[in-house]
Amino acid sequence: MNLVREVPNHFSLPRRILRLGELAYNLWWVWNPDAQRLFSQIDRTLWEKVYHNPVAFLRRVERASLNAATNDRYYLEAYDRVTREFDQYMEAEDTWFKRNQPAPGEHQVAYFSFEFGLHESLPVYAGGLGVLSGDHLKEASDMGLPLVGVGFYYTQGYFSQHITEDGWQETRALMLNHEDLPVVRLAHEDGSPLMVNVTLAGRKVFARILQVQVGRVPLYLLDTDVEVNNPADRMLTARLYTSDQEVRISQEILLGMGGVRALHEVGVKPTVWHMNEGHSAFMTLQRLREMVAANMSFEQAVEEVRKTNIFTTHTPVPAGNDEFAIWLIDKYLANIWTELKIDREQLIDLGRNAQDWGETFSMPVLALHLSAKANGVSELHGRVSRRMWNKLWPGRREEDVPISHITNGVHAPTWMARRMRILFDHYLGPNWLDHIDDPDMWAIIDSIPDAEIWAVRRHLKNKLVLYAIERARRQWVAGGFHPVQVVAGGVLLEPYSLTLGFARRFATYKRANLLLRDVDRLIRILTNSTRPVQVIYAGKAHPADEPGKMLIQEVYRAVKDARCGGRLVFLEDYDMNLARLLVQGVDVWVNTPRRPNEASGTSGMKAAMNGVINCSVLDGWWCEGYNGSNGWAIGRDFDYEDYEAQDSADAESLYDTLENEIIPLYYTTRGYDDLPHGWIEKIKESIRTLAPQFSTRRMLTEYMTQAYRPAMEAFDASRKAAKPEKKK
Ligand SMILES: *Cc1c(COP(=O)(O)O)cnc(C)c1O
Repeated sequence: MNLVREVPNHFSLPRRILRLGELAYNLWWVWNPDAQRLFSQIDRTLWEKVYHNPVAFLRRVERASLNAATNDRYYLEAYDRVTREFDQYMEAEDTWFKRNQPAPGEHQVAYFSFEFGLHESLPVYAGGLGVLSGDHLKEASDMGLPLVGVGFYYTQGYFSQHITEDGWQETRALMLNHEDLPVVRLAHEDGSPLMVNVTLAGRKVFARILQVQVGRVPLYLLDTDVEVNNPADRMLTARLYTSDQEVRISQEILLGMGGVRALHEVGVKPTVWHMNEGHSAFMTLQRLREMVAANMSFEQAVEEVRKTNIFTTHTPVPAGNDEFAIWLIDKYLANIWTELKIDREQLIDLGRNAQDWGETFSMPVLALHLSAKANGVSELHGRVSRRMWNKLWPGRREEDVPISHITNGVHAPTWMARRMRILFDHYLGPNWLDHIDDPDMWAIIDSIPDAEIWAVRRHLKNKLVLYAIERARRQWVAGGFHPVQVVAGGVLLEPYSLTLGFARRFATYKRANLLLRDVDRLIRILTNSTRPVQVIYAGKAHPADEPGKMLIQEVYRAVKDARCGGRLVFLEDYDMNLARLLVQGVDVWVNTPRRPNEASGTSGMKAAMNGVINCSVLDGWWCEGYNGSNGWAIGRDFDYEDYEAQDSADAESLYDTLENEIIPLYYTTRGYDDLPHGWIEKIKESIRTLAPQFSTRRMLTEYMTQAYRPAMEAFDASRKAAKPEKKK
């Protein structure tokens, strides 16, 4: 392959630590805290200032600081150890995939997603879907799965959030600086950039191919900000989730069709194609078009394409599904049906979604029609999806609709605090991460002394509280902040109170205001003089979601209420950095979706691994994670018809659980050591039961056995059938 990775050579590093430049360009450091420390230890202030971004860090760090590091024996020992571990990781032959080699042929899985959340310094994600995609790549790398990612390089990132004095969300677009990111442009040998193009309503739009290296897994990102495009098209990949339907369909054509072409361009030959959510489903049309162009009939091509497509749906409500008006299909895909040698109606049939008010072209319908395997992301969501899409299989019973579930998981090395990992290294043995999905291994957790777990928990809560206070102080010093905003930012937090965390996208179904239904009762809970409680809120509303922004305002009104004593706070700018601090630092993780709207949710899984206890509605993952003693359930395992009844019953249940169970358990200490042994017992029960089950290791093993392996086998069978005379 004559392809050049243009790794910018813009660092000037001392020879002895030259490989820091290489480490900066592989996101392996994201889940290896010792690798992060190779940067942060050189200049802690700068590390914070560049927001934990090694590339930006190395471009700015003073030569004197680098020289000092090369004279520090301890630093060099760590450097040698980390680079050795990195080499061993990258070259390892003995991987999970090799040990469980599913099929004899050469295989590649292509994983398409609209967003990838790998680290706060690469803001090309909006929320849960992106973080899940990022975790999927990291775990695939750890397991040695031959997988590549395909997505977008959003030049204007998502957005940063600011809350005004009266609680209104303001947003600022972030401009990414390519030079400061671990993103590499791909070029041909002659230096010309690697590009793909798609036809959008008659005009050609080009995109550059960029590469981000995630351990052993490459992620290819498309970027239309290139000179040959007209100004509007240059902005096509600037932002995530615009509400403009023409921009949206253009993006999805580029991701699906352009994505397939990008893989050809870089020389990757996928044998399995995974659509993470329907956004990338136009990929199926591109694959069909290539097969028909190679003289296959349309019917035959459909059969071939289906065998190796996997579709994961994440949307439990019909309104949340991605779909387009039929006129947009006429405008953007007219050339496709002729190339597929079918007529307009046949093309529309592939995605036709009949509703009471008319017809649309639905991306999940297209994906469902053209996939061998489809799954929801929790057991409950699988059931909800079978009900929702039963209409595509008329005459079948709901339970026979071919949509299964593979429950989401989280990548433990990314989300687990370093201190917690060190504790587990000590008690579970050095290779515990390789067996994280083995429930038997976790039995050992009972042998960890309560005092040691508690010391880690106290440390993590201190860290969170100090972070919030320091951030509020900086904003105050920077000026322009009203005192009330500084209080809202957490200056009155302290590390001794029971602390609840609620952080997620502010969509109305997540009911961030559930805890505020009876403000007087809440104030009594917060300000109890011997058993005080603090609540930390964080989360962004989509810029076009007015009800979501009003929800933030409602929370902010309570935050500003002096009667709450500064014990209710709202931290701005929820992202992966703040998520990490919160899921590691609070005592209880609260989740209050209106069931069954939460497909899975993953933040509670991150919390559980860190010894934070979940208190959640029995929706999404918690419906199968909760066992009666590893946390608390809000409300009942029951589907309501009436929102008002559901909301008031759930709020009542939340207050009761707090007052009668959570608060007493936390504040009851026993024995000479004055530790809350009952609480710590629950922490252990929570980690023991949830860490193995909700790890990406378990999740990817299931994708492998239920989806990827059958697709690989189908591919091999097809190939064999196509070349019957072939000898070895
Ligand atoms: C994990 C995570 C999410 C998803 O959490 P939910 O439980 O689905 O709300 C969203 N945003 C960020 C930044 C995350 O880290």
